[in-house]
Amino acid sequence: PALAVALGLGALFGILLARSRRMEGPVADLDRGLAAGEFKPYYQPIFDLRSGQITGCEVLARWVRRDGSVVPPMNFIPLAESSGRIQVMTWQILKSALADLHGVLRADKTFKMSVNVVPKHLLSAGFVETLRRTVLAARISARQIVVEVTERDELDDLAHAAAVVAELRDHGFRVAIDDVGVGHSGLSRLKGLGANTIKIDKFFVDTITVDASTTTIVEMLVALARDFRMTVVAEGIETEEQRHALIASGVEEGQGYLVAAPLPFAKFSELVDSRRRS
Ligand code: C2E
Ligand code: CA
Ligand code: CA
Ligand code: CA
Repeated sequence: PALAVALGLGALFGILLARSRRMEGPVADLDRGLAAGEFKPYYQPIFDLRSGQITGCEVLARWVRRDGSVVPPMNFIPLAESSGRIQVMTWQILKSALADLHGVLRADKTFKMSVNVVPKHLLSAGFVETLRRTVLAARISARQIVVEVTERDELDDLAHAAAVVAELRDHGFRVAIDDVGVGHSGLSRLKGLGANTIKIDKFFVDTITVDASTTTIVEMLVALARDFRMTVVAEGIETEEQRHALIASGVEEGQGYLVAAPLPFAKFSELVDSRRRS
């Protein structure tokens, strides 16, 4: 009977524990992950499409849980955004990335590190100043940092958005407009923002080898970029065929599984080293 009671209590305890975890809810779970530093930067190389040389990287967040499982950003960024945790998360990831890449950034002053910032955070008071201080404290040049922002409804106040972009550029930072071509970004708005770079969404890379109208759109974006002295980066390049089609359309840089998926720092660092030696 004692054993039965113990088993019963154990089961009861288990049920209660599971329930309290469930009741804790996803936001509390996020907070615990933030407190434990579980949001880690992964790194995807950005490369010159012709030479294959790595010119920089994009920092992409991953939630590495205690059990070692890796949660992709689409499963936590929207919640972090809606619950107001995205800002803390962004600074945490940026600081880790600056620490990880310190050696690479100092050794190669042309190497650029791109970080994703949601529009609301970009437009929030003190964003540029906090970014400036964080990068300065890490002893990294602003010229090596690219702020990637997706054009969405929040950037509707073009004057405000353009002013923040101009302020960033005054401090030496670069700005990339992310996911161009999907949804919101009209061409005149793209011009008006005053960014350094436009990033062509994977959707166009997926279809460029099969759909002539995609080639037309990409060539239009490249022409627009040239007029406004912007560079063009294509994302999601998986095949040699896509790489060649993009080169033919005038795109200069890209990222994608063709060279590497987003990697944890140790792996990324190995890749950069091996490229440097060869
Ligand atoms: P994004 O900024 O458009 O990032 C590019 C996405 O394409 C990444 O997905 C990357 O892993 C994926 N990708 C790159 N090359 C290939 C390829 O060749 N094939 C395929 N199938 N996929 C490729 P990921 O890492 O899952 O990130 C998804 C989105 O989550 C990002 O889209 C970005 O909007 C957001 N995100 C990621 N990290 C952060 C972050 O630290 N802060 C914020 N605010 N958003 C982030
Ligand atoms: Ca991005
Ligand atoms: Ca993108
Ligand atoms: Ca995208």
